[in-house]
Amino acid sequence: MQMQEFPKHALDNPVKNGSGELTIEPELIGTEYQHELEQKRATEVEELNEHMRPYKFPLRDRVKALGKEDLFAELQEYAQTEICDKLNVAFPAGEIPSEAQMVDIRDFARANLKFIAGMARSFAMHHREPDPYRVGGAALVYRNVPPGENPWAVLFDANTKLDKELTPAPSPEGEKWCAEQNLMDRITKPQDSSEEGVQRIVSMVIVGEARPDDVSIQQDVKQITLTPCYICRRRMLFDKQLTGGESPILPPDTEVYSIDANHDWRDKYQKVRDLPNFHKDKNLQEI
Ligand SMILES: [Zn+2]
Repeated sequence: MQMQEFPKHALDNPVKNGSGELTIEPELIGTEYQHELEQKRATEVEELNEHMRPYKFPLRDRVKALGKEDLFAELQEYAQTEICDKLNVAFPAGEIPSEAQMVDIRDFARANLKFIAGMARSFAMHHREPDPYRVGGAALVYRNVPPGENPWAVLFDANTKLDKELTPAPSPEGEKWCAEQNLMDRITKPQDSSEEGVQRIVSMVIVGEARPDDVSIQQDVKQITLTPCYICRRRMLFDKQLTGGESPILPPDTEVYSIDANHDWRDKYQKVRDLPNFHKDKNLQEI
């Protein structure tokens, strides 16, 4: 393939809060330019993760700070009995289920994951009063465990927007970290042995108030649910820990199921690979 001229100016100005104009034209797909673009997006993911370190508040510590240990324990028990134990009967440790089986597994688990993600909104920390902005998330995952152990786990978490004092507190000046980001952190940096060895995210479920993110709002994208924002979409597509290798933890066909917290009949299934087109992120397309 003939090499395209490399539009360096575009790489120098990545999209941030919708201010950039980085695009990838169809004729550039498969070129060195695309490769560079992927590298740049991956680096941005790493840099943001590093920047966010002082603003992250691990779920178990947050649960204690919020005094919600009972709810946390109830949700864990619910996920175990209603989802993980049942899946373990049909799909025990060993070979990861086929893509066709994944379809059945998502159908089986969707309603319960929606319930868990909705309840996990209670673990949000956000400054808005009297009604904090709350987004709950749940991820159904398959783990690499020894024979006889249950490979299934449901991780749940919520959004935070915290300052970086020693005692994290919600703050308008804080840095936002979405439920999806907190969930992805739990897989890339497990906080508990039950979160270790994740081989595959089967489904990611998000419950929040429907609204467009800072980037897609400029494209006039209407929302019936809260779908992953720009930085989440970018990480879902470019975090090397999640998307790298022959059998990635978060392949582009992973389902993202989103539900409007205020009207739970408004829901939507999308694949990760469909999110950029839906949000008109030209710079993330066709990867
Ligand atoms: Zn997000």
